[in-house]
Parts: sequence; structure tokens; C-alpha cells
Amino acid sequence: MPEHSKIDEMLRRADAAAMAKLPARFAEVEQVRDENQLRLLKAFTDSRVAAHHLSGSTGYGYGDEGRDRLEEVFARYTGSEAALFRHQFMSGTHTISVMLFGLLRPGDVMLCASGRPYDTLAGVIGLPGAAGSGSLAEFGIGYRELPLQDGELDLPAICREAPGCRMLYLQRSRGYADRPPLSPEAIGRAAAAAKEANPGIIVAVDNCYGEFVRCEEPTMRGADVMAGSLIKNPGGGIAPTGGYIAGRAGLVAQCAERMSAPGVGAEVGSTAGVQRQLYLGLYFAPMVTAEALKAGLYASALFEELGFTVSPRWQAGRDDIITAVQTESAPRLAALCRGIQSMSPIDSFVTPEAWPMPGYDCDVIMAAGAFTLGSSIELSCDGPMKPPYTAYLQGSLNFAAGRAAIREGARRMLADN
Ligand SMILES: *Cc1c(COP(=O)(O)O)cnc(C)c1O
Repeated sequence: MPEHSKIDEMLRRADAAAMAKLPARFAEVEQVRDENQLRLLKAFTDSRVAAHHLSGSTGYGYGDEGRDRLEEVFARYTGSEAALFRHQFMSGTHTISVMLFGLLRPGDVMLCASGRPYDTLAGVIGLPGAAGSGSLAEFGIGYRELPLQDGELDLPAICREAPGCRMLYLQRSRGYADRPPLSPEAIGRAAAAAKEANPGIIVAVDNCYGEFVRCEEPTMRGADVMAGSLIKNPGGGIAPTGGYIAGRAGLVAQCAERMSAPGVGAEVGSTAGVQRQLYLGLYFAPMVTAEALKAGLYASALFEELGFTVSPRWQAGRDDIITAVQTESAPRLAALCRGIQSMSPIDSFVTPEAWPMPGYDCDVIMAAGAFTLGSSIELSCDGPMKPPYTAYLQGSLNFAAGRAAIREGARRMLADN
């Protein structure tokens, strides 16, 4: 047989074996999707969303009912007292930065108990060697970090450190670290432990990539406040930009003062032309997150069939939408990214190349053929060019297209052998 038909045959078998394993897992994902969709629908109807709320405002945005109503919907859905859900947030990092600067004051200490936080937060916190100026450190805000213990939060260490700290900070998703995500239950246990040791501590969560994956969000388990990006799960692939902060009313109000200006808070911020997209994207979020989870489950099952180490495995529970695949070689990582790019609805003809991205200690390669630039609820794949050449796959607005793209990535990886 010619080499390429051997590869096609191997792939056909791996695809069939993967698909045969997944129906029960897909049924679980659909159950979560349906439960979340109905709870979200109830948040819409309880908030009495009306047609005129979708039209938006200009200028200062004073009295923008559509903006306030959408924030009410998201607060209800997440079991929060209040929320900011706005396109003025420029990225997840910006949103988390607003949350941290909004809540911490000189002399306070932030305790990060989920290990090293997401790379882009190094500059916000002011970790040694990080780029940028005006960090929390420059404003006299201290930082302590606790590593995870075998992938779990170190509750005794949290209890020991909590009394000297103003904030317990937890990152739910693995981000680009080799560790499991945190479940809402695990976040709840850490919140309870920290509050027993220090009733005044604020439990703040980086919830990026975690929204709608489970039937509960961290704020329903004792987190005081959480933040995330609208070009990930909660934007449903429709929001063109933005972020959210949700939680206790007083804390969200403090964040609003930082978002706009002290004394101004959440009252300003026109919704320009994007409000309908934010409403629609949020409404789609349970379904789109489920499609992304199915694509991730498929990737885990397929690459395991093909002999690669994946995390999480297809049988494992999920608390974020990321699937890590150890490709074990630079050409294979590049081949995977290029295959996925070639099957993207936008920019399919582009060839991803590794490049020295700021903030990383080695070259990074990325596949991202998305309707929204940088969106990672759409199928995207990226990885640092260093052993074990791990590809981080996330998103997919649509399982059928995601499956085909992942399969094409796998085909190119095999062809590269
Ligand atoms: C995406 C993400 C962020 C924020 O990243 P941006 O690229 O600035 O949106 C922060 N933490 C985690 C875990 C993330 O996945």
C-alpha cells in the first residue's frame, strides 16, 4: 500500500475507535449543556429582557438599561449579587487586572494557591523579571504563591497563610501549565478553609475557560468574585471582545470604580453597537461550550488511539476546555497546528510558523483561524517549541468541523513521521 493510504487507514480506524468510546461522555456533556441552558433561560426571563435592551447606547452610556439588564442576567446565572459584563474589557488579562487593582490596597497580600498563575499575569503582579510598569508590586501589594500538591490545592498551607493575606486567588483552568484544572467543588473547599482561618479574606477566581463546563460556577461554591474573558466560553463565539467580573455586590462595585474611575463606577460605559452580540453570545454559551468539550474529548480519544500522551484522558472529568497533547517533536507540533489551520473557516490558507512571542522563554506556534481574532472558544491549537512539544487544543464552535480539523492535524502529524 502507498504510504499515504496506510496513514489514511490508520487514521480511519483511530477515528472510528475514538467515536465508539465517546457516546456516554457526550451524553454527560449534553446533560450539563441542557441544565445550564435552562438555568440561563430562566435568568433571561426572570430579568425580563426585552427587545429594546438589545439596541445599545452611545456616549457616556448613563442609564443604559440593556447593559444593566445583561449584567443582571449574568449575575443571576452565576449565583452572584452583581456583575460587570462589558465589551470595554480588552482581554482576560485586563479584566483580571481590573479585579486585582480594584480589590487590593497597598500593604495587602495576595495569596495565589494554584501555583504559578497564567503567564500574562506576571506583569500585573510584578513577578521578578516580568515586563511592564505599574504592577501590584509597585503599589506595595505583596504576593505569595503556594504550589499545588499532586494537582490538588494545599488546604493546610492555605489555612496557615490565610490570616496574613487579603486575598486568596485561584486559577481554575490549567492555562498552559502541566496541571489539572480546579473544580468548583475544590474551589469551594479552599474558600471555606481560607475563611475559617481569616473570615475577612476575599476569594477571587480566574475563571477563564471554566464557564459553563459544569453546572456550577465558583461563585455558587463560596468564591467572592471571579473574572473571565468574553472571547472564551461566556461569549459563545459571538461576542467580539470583552470580559466579566461577577460576585459580591460590594466587591464588584469596587472593581467598577477601577474599570472606569473612582466615583463613577458602573454607571458609565456605552454599549455602542455590540450589545445584541453580547446577549446572543451569552445565550449560546452553554451550547458552544458543549461543542468545545466534545471536540476536546474527541482529541483525547483520537490521540490516545494513535499512541500519544494526552491530558486529560477521554475518560476523565473536565473542568476547563483545554486538551494537552504531547506531540514529542517540533515537526509534529508544527504539523498538527498547520493541519488545524488548514481546516479553519477563516485564514485556512495561512501556514503557522513558530515565533518568539513576548513573555515566553521559547518560540511558540499557534493555529487560529477564527471569526474573532485570538478567540479560543473557536478551535485553536498552540504550543511552546520545547520538549515534550505539547499542543494545547481548545475550543470549536461546532463539533463536526472540530473533529475534521483535529483529524487533519493528526493526519499531517503521522505523515511527518
Ligand atoms: C485566557 C486566560 C487568561 C487571560 O488571557 P487573555 O489572553 O488576556 O484573554 C487568564 N487566565 C487563564 C487561565 C486563561 O486561560
